[in-house]
Amino acid sequence: MTSTSSAELYERHRKVLPDWLALYYEDPIELTHGEGRHVWDADGTKYLDFFGGILTTMTAHALPEVTKAISEQAGRIIHSSTLYLDRPMVELAERIAALSGIPDARVFFTSSGTEANDTALLLATAYRGSNTLLAMRNSYHGRSFSAVGITGNRAWSPTSLSPLQTLYVHGGVRTRGPYASLSDAEFIAACVADLEDLLGHGRTPAALIAEPIQGVGGFTSPPDGLYAAFREVLAARGVLWISDEVQTGWGRTGDHFWGWQAHAQSGPPDMLTFAKGIGNGMSIGGVVARAEVMNCLDANSISTFGGSPVTMAAGLANLSYLLEHDLQGNARRVGGLLLERLRAACASVPAVREVRGRGLMLGIELCEPGTDEPSPQRATAVLEAARAGGLLIGKGGGHSTSALRIAPPLSLTVAEAEEGAAILERALREV
Ligand code: PMP
Repeated sequence: MTSTSSAELYERHRKVLPDWLALYYEDPIELTHGEGRHVWDADGTKYLDFFGGILTTMTAHALPEVTKAISEQAGRIIHSSTLYLDRPMVELAERIAALSGIPDARVFFTSSGTEANDTALLLATAYRGSNTLLAMRNSYHGRSFSAVGITGNRAWSPTSLSPLQTLYVHGGVRTRGPYASLSDAEFIAACVADLEDLLGHGRTPAALIAEPIQGVGGFTSPPDGLYAAFREVLAARGVLWISDEVQTGWGRTGDHFWGWQAHAQSGPPDMLTFAKGIGNGMSIGGVVARAEVMNCLDANSISTFGGSPVTMAAGLANLSYLLEHDLQGNARRVGGLLLERLRAACASVPAVREVRGRGLMLGIELCEPGTDEPSPQRATAVLEAARAGGLLIGKGGGHSTSALRIAPPLSLTVAEAEEGAAILERALREV
Protein backbone atom coordinates (compact mmCIF):
# COMPACT_ATOMS: atom_id res chain seq x y z
CA MET A 1 0.00 0.00 0.00
CA THR A 2 1.33 3.42 -0.91
CA SER A 3 1.81 6.02 1.85
CA THR A 4 -0.46 9.06 2.09
CA SER A 5 2.33 11.28 0.91
CA SER A 6 2.93 9.12 -2.20
CA ALA A 7 -0.83 8.99 -2.85
CA GLU A 8 -0.93 12.77 -2.63
CA LEU A 9 2.07 13.00 -4.95
CA TYR A 10 0.21 10.81 -7.44
CA GLU A 11 -2.76 13.21 -7.31
CA ARG A 12 -0.43 16.09 -8.14
CA HIS A 13 1.28 13.99 -10.82
CA ARG A 14 -2.06 13.37 -12.51
CA LYS A 15 -2.92 17.06 -12.58
CA VAL A 16 0.31 18.32 -14.06
CA LEU A 17 1.76 15.48 -16.20
CA PRO A 18 0.27 13.99 -19.40
CA ASP A 19 -2.43 11.32 -19.13
CA TRP A 20 -0.44 9.09 -21.50
CA LEU A 21 2.61 8.96 -19.23
CA ALA A 22 1.97 5.41 -18.04
CA LEU A 23 2.80 4.32 -14.49
CA TYR A 24 2.76 0.79 -13.09
CA TYR A 25 0.42 -0.31 -10.29
CA GLU A 26 -2.94 0.87 -9.04
CA ASP A 27 -1.07 2.71 -6.28
CA PRO A 28 2.12 3.80 -8.05
CA ILE A 29 5.39 3.35 -6.18
CA GLU A 30 7.61 6.27 -5.19
CA LEU A 31 11.13 4.89 -5.02
CA THR A 32 13.41 6.68 -2.61
CA HIS A 33 16.64 4.69 -2.69
CA GLY A 34 18.33 1.54 -3.88
CA GLU A 35 21.27 -0.72 -3.17
CA GLY A 36 22.52 -3.69 -5.15
CA ARG A 37 19.48 -5.45 -6.54
CA HIS A 38 17.06 -3.85 -4.06
CA VAL A 39 15.02 -0.66 -3.95
CA TRP A 40 12.93 0.96 -1.19
CA ASP A 41 9.75 3.01 -1.45
CA ALA A 42 8.66 6.04 0.55
CA ASP A 43 7.09 3.77 3.21
CA GLY A 44 10.37 1.95 3.71
CA THR A 45 9.10 -1.18 1.95
CA LYS A 46 11.96 -3.12 0.39
CA TYR A 47 11.63 -4.74 -3.05
CA LEU A 48 13.82 -7.10 -5.00
CA ASP A 49 14.23 -5.34 -8.34
CA PHE A 50 13.75 -7.61 -11.37
CA PHE A 51 13.21 -4.78 -13.84
CA GLY A 52 15.88 -2.15 -13.08
CA GLY A 53 13.73 0.76 -14.30
CA ILE A 54 13.32 -0.92 -17.72
CA LEU A 55 16.90 -2.23 -17.86
CA THR A 56 18.51 1.07 -16.94
CA THR A 57 20.15 -0.25 -13.77
CA MET A 58 22.68 -2.42 -15.58
CA THR A 59 25.16 -3.37 -12.87
CA ALA A 60 23.62 -2.54 -9.47
CA HIS A 61 21.76 0.22 -7.64
CA ALA A 62 23.96 2.82 -5.93
CA LEU A 63 27.13 1.15 -7.16
CA PRO A 64 29.87 2.98 -5.20
CA GLU A 65 32.23 3.07 -8.20
CA VAL A 66 29.61 4.84 -10.33
CA THR A 67 28.46 7.19 -7.57
CA LYS A 68 32.08 8.21 -6.90
CA ALA A 69 32.78 8.84 -10.59
CA ILE A 70 29.64 10.98 -10.90
CA SER A 71 30.32 13.06 -7.82
CA GLU A 72 34.00 13.57 -8.64
CA GLN A 73 33.19 14.73 -12.17
CA ALA A 74 30.30 16.88 -10.92
CA GLY A 75 32.70 18.48 -8.42
CA ARG A 76 35.07 19.37 -11.27
CA ILE A 77 32.71 20.56 -14.02
CA ILE A 78 29.15 19.87 -15.22
CA HIS A 79 28.98 20.99 -18.81
CA SER A 80 27.70 20.23 -22.28
CA SER A 81 29.69 18.05 -24.64
CA THR A 82 29.92 20.58 -27.43
CA LEU A 83 32.48 23.16 -28.57
CA TYR A 84 35.33 21.97 -26.36
CA LEU A 85 37.23 18.74 -25.99
CA ASP A 86 35.51 16.30 -23.62
CA ARG A 87 38.00 13.76 -22.23
CA PRO A 88 35.50 11.28 -20.70
CA MET A 89 33.52 11.30 -23.97
CA VAL A 90 36.59 10.43 -26.05
CA GLU A 91 37.54 7.67 -23.60
CA LEU A 92 34.08 6.10 -23.53
CA ALA A 93 33.79 6.37 -27.33
CA GLU A 94 37.11 4.53 -27.71
CA ARG A 95 35.95 1.74 -25.44
CA ILE A 96 32.55 1.36 -27.08
CA ALA A 97 34.05 1.47 -30.59
CA ALA A 98 36.45 -1.34 -29.65
CA LEU A 99 33.62 -3.42 -28.12
CA SER A 100 31.13 -2.79 -30.95
CA GLY A 101 32.54 -5.31 -33.44
CA ILE A 102 31.96 -2.71 -36.17
CA PRO A 103 35.11 -2.06 -38.20
CA ASP A 104 36.40 1.51 -38.44
CA ALA A 105 33.75 2.50 -35.91
CA ARG A 106 32.75 6.03 -34.98
CA VAL A 107 30.54 6.78 -31.97
CA PHE A 108 28.07 9.63 -31.50
CA PHE A 109 26.51 10.17 -28.05
CA THR A 110 22.95 11.29 -27.38
CA SER A 111 20.86 11.56 -24.24
CA SER A 112 18.36 8.79 -24.96
CA GLY A 113 17.62 5.72 -27.03
CA THR A 114 15.06 7.65 -29.04
CA GLU A 115 17.61 10.28 -30.00
CA ALA A 116 20.11 7.53 -30.83
CA ASN A 117 17.63 5.92 -33.23
CA ASP A 118 16.71 9.31 -34.71
CA THR A 119 20.40 9.81 -35.42
CA ALA A 120 20.67 6.38 -37.05
CA LEU A 121 17.68 7.28 -39.25
CA LEU A 122 19.24 10.61 -40.14
CA LEU A 123 22.44 8.83 -41.17
CA ALA A 124 20.80 5.96 -43.05
CA THR A 125 18.40 8.17 -45.00
CA ALA A 126 21.16 10.64 -45.89
CA TYR A 127 23.60 7.88 -46.84
CA ARG A 128 21.13 6.09 -49.07
CA GLY A 129 19.08 9.07 -50.30
CA SER A 130 15.86 7.28 -49.37
CA ASN A 131 13.28 7.82 -46.65
CA THR A 132 11.84 4.33 -46.96
CA LEU A 133 12.65 2.17 -43.94
CA LEU A 134 12.19 -1.46 -43.07
CA ALA A 135 11.19 -2.16 -39.48
CA MET A 136 9.82 -5.17 -37.65
CA ARG A 137 6.21 -5.75 -36.70
CA ASN A 138 5.72 -5.35 -32.94
CA SER A 139 8.94 -3.29 -32.62
CA TYR A 140 9.61 -0.34 -30.32
CA HIS A 141 12.27 2.25 -31.13
CA GLY A 142 11.33 5.36 -29.14
CA ARG A 143 8.90 8.20 -28.74
CA SER A 144 9.96 10.94 -31.18
CA PHE A 145 8.03 11.60 -34.38
CA SER A 146 10.43 9.60 -36.51
CA ALA A 147 10.98 6.81 -33.93
CA VAL A 148 7.22 6.31 -33.68
CA GLY A 149 7.25 6.07 -37.48
CA ILE A 150 9.34 2.89 -37.27
CA THR A 151 7.59 1.45 -34.22
CA GLY A 152 5.41 -1.48 -35.18
CA ASN A 153 3.96 -2.01 -31.70
CA ARG A 154 0.51 -0.47 -31.88
CA ALA A 155 0.34 0.17 -28.15
CA TRP A 156 3.24 2.62 -28.57
CA SER A 157 2.30 4.28 -31.86
CA PRO A 158 0.30 7.36 -30.84
CA THR A 159 0.22 8.74 -34.40
CA SER A 160 -0.01 7.18 -37.83
CA LEU A 161 1.63 10.21 -39.44
CA SER A 162 5.32 9.85 -40.20
CA PRO A 163 8.21 11.52 -42.03
CA LEU A 164 9.21 8.01 -43.20
CA GLN A 165 7.73 5.40 -45.50
CA THR A 166 7.92 2.30 -43.37
CA LEU A 167 7.49 -1.31 -44.44
CA TYR A 168 6.95 -3.74 -41.56
CA VAL A 169 8.56 -7.16 -41.76
CA HIS A 170 7.58 -10.39 -39.99
CA GLY A 171 10.12 -12.05 -37.73
CA GLY A 172 10.18 -10.39 -34.33
CA VAL A 173 7.47 -12.56 -32.78
CA ARG A 174 6.17 -16.03 -33.38
CA THR A 175 4.24 -16.83 -30.23
CA ARG A 176 0.94 -16.89 -32.05
CA GLY A 177 -0.42 -16.77 -35.57
CA PRO A 178 0.51 -18.54 -38.78
CA TYR A 179 4.23 -18.69 -37.99
CA ALA A 180 3.88 -20.21 -34.51
CA SER A 181 4.07 -23.84 -35.59
CA LEU A 182 7.06 -23.52 -37.95
CA SER A 183 10.52 -24.90 -37.23
CA ASP A 184 13.33 -22.34 -36.89
CA ALA A 185 14.50 -22.95 -40.47
CA GLU A 186 10.95 -22.75 -41.86
CA PHE A 187 10.29 -19.59 -39.86
CA ILE A 188 13.44 -17.90 -41.17
CA ALA A 189 12.59 -18.92 -44.76
CA ALA A 190 9.04 -17.54 -44.39
CA CYS A 191 10.32 -14.24 -42.99
CA VAL A 192 12.94 -13.90 -45.73
CA ALA A 193 10.19 -14.48 -48.30
CA ASP A 194 8.14 -11.74 -46.61
CA LEU A 195 11.14 -9.39 -46.75
CA GLU A 196 11.77 -10.15 -50.41
CA ASP A 197 8.13 -9.50 -51.16
CA LEU A 198 8.34 -6.08 -49.45
CA LEU A 199 11.45 -5.26 -51.46
CA GLY A 200 9.60 -5.82 -54.73
CA HIS A 201 8.29 -3.01 -56.94
CA GLY A 202 11.74 -1.42 -57.16
CA ARG A 203 11.71 -0.21 -53.57
CA THR A 204 15.05 1.02 -52.25
CA PRO A 205 14.86 1.28 -48.46
CA ALA A 206 17.63 3.05 -46.59
CA ALA A 207 17.87 0.47 -43.83
CA LEU A 208 16.30 -2.25 -41.78
CA ILE A 209 16.11 -1.35 -38.09
CA ALA A 210 15.46 -4.21 -35.67
CA GLU A 211 15.82 -5.18 -32.02
CA PRO A 212 17.58 -8.58 -31.81
CA ILE A 213 15.12 -9.47 -29.03
CA GLN A 214 12.08 -7.22 -28.90
CA GLY A 215 12.07 -5.44 -25.55
CA VAL A 216 8.79 -3.54 -25.16
CA GLY A 217 7.32 -6.25 -27.42
CA GLY A 218 7.69 -8.75 -24.58
CA PHE A 219 11.22 -10.23 -24.76
CA THR A 220 10.35 -12.32 -27.79
CA SER A 221 12.97 -14.71 -29.15
CA PRO A 222 13.52 -14.90 -32.89
CA PRO A 223 15.65 -17.88 -33.93
CA ASP A 224 19.40 -17.31 -34.07
CA GLY A 225 20.48 -16.41 -37.56
CA LEU A 226 17.27 -14.61 -38.60
CA TYR A 227 19.02 -11.29 -39.10
CA ALA A 228 21.97 -12.94 -40.83
CA ALA A 229 19.49 -14.30 -43.37
CA PHE A 230 17.91 -10.86 -43.73
CA ARG A 231 21.36 -9.35 -44.06
CA GLU A 232 22.17 -11.42 -47.10
CA VAL A 233 19.09 -10.14 -48.91
CA LEU A 234 19.67 -6.55 -47.78
CA ALA A 235 23.41 -6.38 -48.46
CA ALA A 236 22.85 -7.45 -52.08
CA ARG A 237 20.75 -4.29 -52.49
CA GLY A 238 22.91 -1.96 -50.40
CA VAL A 239 20.28 -1.68 -47.66
CA LEU A 240 21.86 -0.96 -44.25
CA TRP A 241 21.21 -3.00 -41.09
CA ILE A 242 20.71 -1.04 -37.87
CA SER A 243 20.68 -3.16 -34.73
CA ASP A 244 18.79 -1.45 -31.91
CA GLU A 245 20.71 -2.69 -28.88
CA VAL A 246 19.03 -0.37 -26.39
CA GLN A 247 17.80 -3.38 -24.39
CA THR A 248 19.98 -6.23 -25.67
CA GLY A 249 23.39 -4.57 -25.35
CA TRP A 250 26.12 -4.82 -22.68
CA GLY A 251 25.96 -8.58 -22.10
CA ARG A 252 22.31 -8.60 -21.04
CA THR A 253 21.61 -11.72 -23.13
CA GLY A 254 24.43 -13.66 -21.45
CA ASP A 255 25.69 -15.56 -24.49
CA HIS A 256 26.67 -12.38 -26.29
CA PHE A 257 27.78 -8.87 -25.55
CA TRP A 258 25.43 -7.51 -28.25
CA GLY A 259 22.19 -9.04 -29.39
CA TRP A 260 23.29 -8.96 -33.05
CA GLN A 261 25.98 -11.53 -32.26
CA ALA A 262 23.32 -14.27 -32.17
CA HIS A 263 22.96 -13.53 -35.90
CA ALA A 264 26.61 -12.99 -36.63
CA GLN A 265 27.14 -15.33 -39.58
CA SER A 266 27.07 -12.40 -41.97
CA GLY A 267 29.13 -10.05 -39.82
CA PRO A 268 28.28 -6.99 -37.75
CA PRO A 269 25.50 -4.53 -38.53
CA ASP A 270 26.28 -1.26 -40.31
CA MET A 271 25.11 0.63 -37.23
CA LEU A 272 24.09 -0.18 -33.71
CA THR A 273 22.25 2.05 -31.28
CA PHE A 274 22.53 1.88 -27.50
CA ALA A 275 21.14 3.59 -24.37
CA LYS A 276 19.58 2.50 -21.07
CA GLY A 277 22.05 0.37 -19.09
CA ILE A 278 25.36 1.94 -20.02
CA GLY A 279 24.68 4.95 -17.76
CA ASN A 280 23.28 2.80 -14.93
CA GLY A 281 20.42 5.29 -14.73
CA MET A 282 22.24 8.35 -16.11
CA SER A 283 20.99 9.50 -19.51
CA ILE A 284 23.33 8.12 -22.15
CA GLY A 285 22.39 6.99 -25.63
CA GLY A 286 24.38 6.71 -28.82
CA VAL A 287 25.09 5.31 -32.25
CA VAL A 288 28.06 3.33 -33.50
CA ALA A 289 28.50 3.32 -37.27
CA ARG A 290 31.12 2.57 -39.85
CA ALA A 291 33.05 5.81 -40.48
CA GLU A 292 31.80 5.98 -44.06
CA VAL A 293 28.19 5.98 -42.85
CA MET A 294 28.76 8.20 -39.80
CA ASN A 295 30.57 10.80 -41.86
CA CYS A 296 28.06 10.99 -44.71
CA LEU A 297 26.41 14.16 -43.35
CA ASP A 298 27.47 17.36 -45.08
CA ALA A 299 26.29 19.78 -42.40
CA ASN A 300 26.88 20.15 -38.66
CA SER A 301 24.85 18.14 -36.14
CA ILE A 302 25.36 18.36 -32.39
CA SER A 303 23.62 17.13 -29.26
CA THR A 304 24.12 19.65 -26.45
CA PHE A 305 23.86 17.09 -23.67
CA GLY A 306 24.84 13.91 -25.51
CA GLY A 307 28.25 12.92 -24.15
CA SER A 308 28.22 15.45 -21.29
CA PRO A 309 31.10 14.78 -18.87
CA VAL A 310 29.07 13.65 -15.84
CA THR A 311 27.13 11.04 -17.81
CA MET A 312 30.32 9.87 -19.53
CA ALA A 313 32.10 9.49 -16.18
CA ALA A 314 29.20 7.32 -15.02
CA GLY A 315 29.34 5.28 -18.22
CA LEU A 316 33.08 4.68 -17.94
CA ALA A 317 32.87 3.53 -14.31
CA ASN A 318 29.83 1.37 -15.02
CA LEU A 319 31.37 -0.27 -18.08
CA SER A 320 34.61 -0.98 -16.20
CA TYR A 321 32.66 -2.64 -13.39
CA LEU A 322 30.65 -4.72 -15.87
CA LEU A 323 33.77 -6.00 -17.63
CA GLU A 324 35.96 -6.48 -14.55
CA HIS A 325 33.25 -8.52 -12.80
CA ASP A 326 32.26 -10.46 -15.94
CA LEU A 327 28.61 -9.57 -15.51
CA GLN A 328 27.88 -10.97 -18.96
CA GLY A 329 29.04 -14.36 -17.65
CA ASN A 330 26.92 -13.80 -14.56
CA ALA A 331 23.90 -13.04 -16.76
CA ARG A 332 24.50 -16.32 -18.61
CA ARG A 333 24.93 -18.42 -15.47
CA VAL A 334 22.33 -16.88 -13.15
CA GLY A 335 19.95 -16.16 -16.04
CA GLY A 336 20.21 -19.80 -17.14
CA LEU A 337 19.33 -21.00 -13.63
CA LEU A 338 16.49 -18.52 -13.37
CA LEU A 339 15.06 -19.61 -16.73
CA GLU A 340 15.16 -23.28 -15.64
CA ARG A 341 13.59 -22.43 -12.29
CA LEU A 342 10.81 -20.38 -13.92
CA ARG A 343 10.12 -23.06 -16.52
CA ALA A 344 9.74 -25.64 -13.77
CA ALA A 345 7.54 -23.32 -11.70
CA CYS A 346 5.31 -22.45 -14.66
CA ALA A 347 4.92 -25.98 -16.03
CA SER A 348 1.78 -26.53 -13.96
CA VAL A 349 0.34 -23.01 -14.28
CA PRO A 350 -2.32 -23.21 -17.01
CA ALA A 351 -2.24 -19.45 -17.72
CA VAL A 352 1.41 -19.59 -18.82
CA ARG A 353 1.73 -19.89 -22.58
CA GLU A 354 5.52 -19.63 -22.86
CA VAL A 355 8.63 -18.96 -20.77
CA ARG A 356 11.36 -17.55 -23.00
CA GLY A 357 14.43 -15.41 -23.31
CA ARG A 358 18.15 -15.60 -22.71
CA GLY A 359 20.55 -14.31 -20.10
CA LEU A 360 18.82 -11.88 -17.79
CA MET A 361 16.15 -10.93 -20.31
CA LEU A 362 13.34 -13.40 -19.63
CA GLY A 363 9.68 -13.26 -20.59
CA ILE A 364 6.60 -15.14 -19.43
CA GLU A 365 3.68 -15.02 -21.86
CA LEU A 366 0.24 -15.32 -20.24
CA CYS A 367 -2.97 -16.53 -21.82
CA GLU A 368 -6.53 -17.35 -20.83
CA PRO A 369 -6.19 -20.93 -19.56
CA GLY A 370 -7.11 -23.53 -22.13
CA THR A 371 -7.01 -21.01 -24.98
CA ASP A 372 -4.44 -19.14 -27.03
CA GLU A 373 -5.95 -15.78 -26.06
CA PRO A 374 -3.50 -13.28 -24.57
CA SER A 375 -4.35 -12.26 -21.02
CA PRO A 376 -3.27 -8.68 -20.26
CA GLN A 377 -5.51 -8.65 -17.16
CA ARG A 378 -3.58 -11.56 -15.70
CA ALA A 379 -0.26 -9.86 -16.48
CA THR A 380 -1.40 -6.77 -14.57
CA ALA A 381 -2.67 -8.92 -11.70
CA VAL A 382 0.62 -10.85 -11.47
CA LEU A 383 2.52 -7.57 -11.40
CA GLU A 384 0.40 -6.41 -8.44
CA ALA A 385 0.73 -9.75 -6.65
CA ALA A 386 4.51 -9.80 -7.15
CA ARG A 387 4.73 -6.29 -5.78
CA ALA A 388 2.74 -7.35 -2.73
CA GLY A 389 5.28 -10.17 -2.31
CA GLY A 390 8.20 -7.73 -2.52
CA LEU A 391 9.25 -8.15 -6.16
CA LEU A 392 9.24 -5.61 -9.00
CA ILE A 393 8.91 -6.97 -12.54
CA GLY A 394 7.83 -5.48 -15.86
CA LYS A 395 5.25 -6.25 -18.48
CA GLY A 396 5.13 -5.88 -22.24
CA GLY A 397 3.90 -7.47 -25.41
CA GLY A 398 2.43 -6.74 -28.76
CA HIS A 399 -1.24 -6.22 -29.49
CA SER A 400 -1.93 -6.79 -25.82
CA THR A 401 0.37 -6.45 -22.84
CA SER A 402 0.28 -10.08 -21.85
CA ALA A 403 3.95 -10.85 -21.17
CA LEU A 404 5.83 -10.47 -17.90
CA ARG A 405 9.33 -9.09 -18.31
CA ILE A 406 12.21 -9.99 -16.06
CA ALA A 407 15.45 -8.04 -16.39
CA PRO A 408 17.27 -7.58 -13.08
CA PRO A 409 20.60 -5.79 -12.69
CA LEU A 410 23.30 -8.04 -14.19
CA SER A 411 24.96 -8.60 -10.79
CA LEU A 412 21.98 -10.70 -9.61
CA THR A 413 23.05 -13.49 -7.24
CA VAL A 414 21.82 -17.09 -7.31
CA ALA A 415 20.11 -16.58 -3.94
CA GLU A 416 18.28 -13.49 -5.24
CA ALA A 417 17.26 -15.35 -8.40
CA GLU A 418 15.81 -18.12 -6.20
CA GLU A 419 14.02 -15.62 -3.97
CA GLY A 420 12.53 -13.72 -6.93
CA ALA A 421 11.45 -16.93 -8.67
CA ALA A 422 9.68 -18.11 -5.50
CA ILE A 423 7.78 -14.81 -5.16
CA LEU A 424 6.84 -14.91 -8.84
CA GLU A 425 5.68 -18.50 -8.60
CA ARG A 426 3.40 -17.60 -5.67
CA ALA A 427 2.06 -14.57 -7.57
CA LEU A 428 1.34 -16.67 -10.67
CA ARG A 429 -0.46 -19.32 -8.63
CA GLU A 430 -2.50 -16.71 -6.75
CA VAL A 431 -3.66 -15.11 -9.99
N1 PMP B 1 14.83 1.27 -28.48
C1 PMP B 1 14.45 0.29 -27.66
C2 PMP B 1 14.67 -1.12 -28.08
C3 PMP B 1 13.87 0.58 -26.43
O1 PMP B 1 13.48 -0.42 -25.63
C4 PMP B 1 13.70 1.92 -26.05
C5 PMP B 1 13.11 2.30 -24.71
N2 PMP B 1 12.20 1.42 -24.15
C6 PMP B 1 14.10 2.92 -26.93
C7 PMP B 1 14.68 2.55 -28.13
C8 PMP B 1 13.93 4.35 -26.60
O2 PMP B 1 14.81 4.73 -25.58
P1 PMP B 1 14.52 6.02 -24.70
O3 PMP B 1 13.30 5.77 -23.89
O4 PMP B 1 15.79 6.17 -23.90
O5 PMP B 1 14.33 7.17 -25.62
